[in-house]
Amino acid sequence: MRKATKLGFVSGFLIAGCSTAPPRTDKGAFKVEDVVQTTDDAIRVQVNHREVPLQEMPMASLLAGLPMAGLADVVIDLTVPGEGGRFRIVVSGGAVESGMLEGLLAHEMSHIVRMRTRHPSHNPRIIEAAIRQVGDGVATTDYQRKILHDLVNNVEDLYADDIAFEVIRKVGLMTAKEATEFLQNWVEDAPSEARDRTRARWENAWRLANNARAIAQMERHGVEDTGGVAAAASDRLLSRMGPAARGPFEYLRNLLVNLKKGITEDEYRKLLVDYLGRFLEVAERT
Ligand SMILES: [Zn+2]
Repeated sequence: MRKATKLGFVSGFLIAGCSTAPPRTDKGAFKVEDVVQTTDDAIRVQVNHREVPLQEMPMASLLAGLPMAGLADVVIDLTVPGEGGRFRIVVSGGAVESGMLEGLLAHEMSHIVRMRTRHPSHNPRIIEAAIRQVGDGVATTDYQRKILHDLVNNVEDLYADDIAFEVIRKVGLMTAKEATEFLQNWVEDAPSEARDRTRARWENAWRLANNARAIAQMERHGVEDTGGVAAAASDRLLSRMGPAARGPFEYLRNLLVNLKKGITEDEYRKLLVDYLGRFLEVAERT
């Protein structure tokens, strides 16, 4: 809870049913940006929506593969930093595994905190510059540009989860076992089935880097890889990709485990260029 406290999350966690909801309610999906108000001394996120179609929510696309379907009532009231700041997420209904949607919302809100506190990891100017520097003339198709953005998004997610994981644990949204299973399921062992050879290389390199992210996150947030399931799946992919894949994988994993909390803008730009460059060594290897 240390980091979160510094940013102004203070006590008052509450997970409860609809009965505690504030009076004003809307219906249907909402955009995360639309529920944020910024004043001089605080950022406030307020949602009180009934019948939210979960598959239309942005977090469904960001963390695909989760059981996100059906309708849910979503109530969020998050104020940060500000005096007496509080963090409260209430969700009810919907075909959502217990704790999972709240966890995703905590994650989304952590992005907002990173943006509003101007953390370099969420600075679009730095991100665009790094992607241009590395990708111009190399990433020429839509899928390639998307992969570069997804790679950067993985770094942003790790920085967001430095906050969100603390919250998730503090509130008890996920047990240690659930956190383990969540990240173990992230790791893919199957190589790309794309017919186009360039595309297959890029997709394999993405899977390698995405596995590195999940395994780095376990290490970073002290989540146990019970039975070595994630490590074994990652190893299977690396074996299928050949011996040259191992070095870049270790490099990326190490880079992501050791992301500095207090990084400067200049350090972050260099880090992204290094990170994307290593990825390209795998994706563009002929
Ligand atoms: Zn995210």
